[in-house]
Amino acid sequence: MPAKPTTEQSAQRVIDDLRELALLTSDAAGAQRVAWGPVWRKARQWFADKVRRDLDVEVATDAAGNIHVVLPGKRDATVIIASHLDSVPNGGWLDGCLGVLVGLEALRRAAAAGECDLTLRLIDWADEEGARFGRSLVGSSAAGGSLNVEDIRNLKDRDGITQAEAMRENGVNIDSMLDAHKQLKQVDARAYLELHIEQGPVLESLNKSTGTVLGTFGVERHMIKFTGQAAHSGSTPIPMRRDAFLAAAQFALAAREIGLKYSRPGANVVCTCGIVKVEPAIVTAVPGVCEISLDQRALDANVLAQMHADARAASEKAANDNNVAVEWKKIWNIAPRLFDDRLLRLCDEAVNEITGDSYRLPSGPLHDAAEMVPHMPTVMMFAYSARGLSHCKEEDTPIEHLEKTIRAFLVLAEKASESVSL
Ligand SMILES: [Zn+2]
Repeated sequence: MPAKPTTEQSAQRVIDDLRELALLTSDAAGAQRVAWGPVWRKARQWFADKVRRDLDVEVATDAAGNIHVVLPGKRDATVIIASHLDSVPNGGWLDGCLGVLVGLEALRRAAAAGECDLTLRLIDWADEEGARFGRSLVGSSAAGGSLNVEDIRNLKDRDGITQAEAMRENGVNIDSMLDAHKQLKQVDARAYLELHIEQGPVLESLNKSTGTVLGTFGVERHMIKFTGQAAHSGSTPIPMRRDAFLAAAQFALAAREIGLKYSRPGANVVCTCGIVKVEPAIVTAVPGVCEISLDQRALDANVLAQMHADARAASEKAANDNNVAVEWKKIWNIAPRLFDDRLLRLCDEAVNEITGDSYRLPSGPLHDAAEMVPHMPTVMMFAYSARGLSHCKEEDTPIEHLEKTIRAFLVLAEKASESVSL
C-alpha cells in the first residue's frame, strides 16, 4: 500500500473520480444514472471495479440491492459511510455520487494507513431518488426497516413496467428485500456519516464551503378541498357567490404568512401550495370546487405541529369568509429526524479545521441518512450548492469549495473512527 495521502491529494482524487464517472454516465443533458436502468448498472460496475482494484476487498449486494464494501479492522465496531450513485434523469454531477466517492477515498486512506482498529463500511444505497417509480429512499428504507413493500410493488414507470419487475431484472426479489434490514442489524454500527450537496442556496448565501446538518425536516403534506357552488359569472353578484377558488387563494396567502411567522434565523421553516385544481375550470363560471395542496416542513416537531394547527385554522377562516365548506385529506407525513449531538460536534470540529469556522443548517430534502437515525448515531455534512440548483445539469459546487468540503468530510471520517475506538 502507498503512504497515506494528504487531504489535498485525497480531495483531488475524489474530484478526478467524480469527473470520470460524469464522463461515463452523463450526456449533454446531464447525469443519466436512473436506478435499475442500464446507465446505473454501468456506474455501479465502474464503482465495483475501482473498489476491487484499489482496495482488494469484496463488493457485496444486500437483499434490497444496496452495495456494501467492507474494510475490516481489528474490531467489528463499524463506521458506515454512505450515499447513492443513482441520479434523476438529466441530473447533476455531484448529487449522491459525491458521498459515495468520498467514502471510497476514506477507505483508501484507511487502507494506506495500515490495519485500522475500526471496521469501515461503505454503502451505495439503491434507488434513493425514486425517479422512475416515484418512491424515494427505496434501498435505505428497506435496510432501515420502514419500507412497506406493498406500497411499491405495483408502482409503474412510463412504459408500464412495475417496480417489482425492474428490481427483479437487477437481481432483487421484492418479497425478500426486507431481509436487508436483518443484514444491517447484524452490523455493529457506531456511526453513520453522509456527505451530500446542499441542493439549496443557504451555504452559498453565507459564502461557506460546507456545513454541519442538524437533521432532516419533518413534513406534513395534505390536500385541502374547498367546496362552494358553481354559478354563472355574468349573473351572480359577487357578495352572493360561494367561490371555492377565492377561499383557496386566501388560504395560500395565509400559508405563506405561517411560514414567515415561524421562521427564525438559523431555524427556517417552509410552507408551499404547489397544486391548485379548480372546477369547473370554465372562464364564465364561478369556481364551485377548488383543491389545493399544502406541504409544511420544520426541524422542530412542536413548531411543525403549531404550523399545522395554524393552517387548519386558516382553512376554516377562508371557508367561512367565502361561505364554502372545507375538508382535509392527508397525503403523507414524517417526523423530523434529528442527528446525533456527539457527531454534530465532531462534524463542527472537522469543518472548523479545514475552513476556519463552522455553520449548522437543517436539511429540507430527505436523505438516506434519515432512515438510519432510528438505528445508529447519524450525521450529515453539506457541500456548497451554486445558485442552490440540483436535479439539473447546472448543479455544481465550485472547485475551491468542493475541495474544502471533501477534506472536511475525510477529517470527520477519521475523527468518528477515533472517537468510536475510545
Ligand atoms: Zn441525493
